[in-house]
Amino acid sequence: MTKLDCTVTTCVHNAEKCCCKSGILVEGAQAKNCCDTCCGSFEENRGGLFKNLFKTPESKLEVECDVANCLYNDDHQCRAERITIAGDGAMAVGQTECAEKADDSRLTVAGSFFT
Ligand code: SF4
Repeated sequence: MTKLDCTVTTCVHNAEKCCCKSGILVEGAQAKNCCDTCCGSFEENRGGLFKNLFKTPESKLEVECDVANCLYNDDHQCRAERITIAGDGAMAVGQTECAEKADDSRLTVAGSFFT
């Protein structure tokens, strides 16, 4: 399971900068950079009115991933210890992205997850 931070506060599944789902799908099969990826599980919280009363933020969750070029993609499962989904203010799936590595200096050379 991957530790996930999510800055997409406009998503209905977001609470306290975490995701309340037990798993998400990162899309971007042809992605060459982070900006070509997105969280396919994003759903806009229209008007910001919905409050998630029944679920609690999950600090770790299953991340299914379509990004073939990613270093951490292992048979469509993300094996990174930690990722961040970015896209504060997003109103559509395409305005989100799997944005950054964390705690792994090996990745700073490329500046992303990509090989
Ligand atoms: S954008 Fe994706 S990771 Fe973030 S809260 Fe929504 S479903 Fe969860």
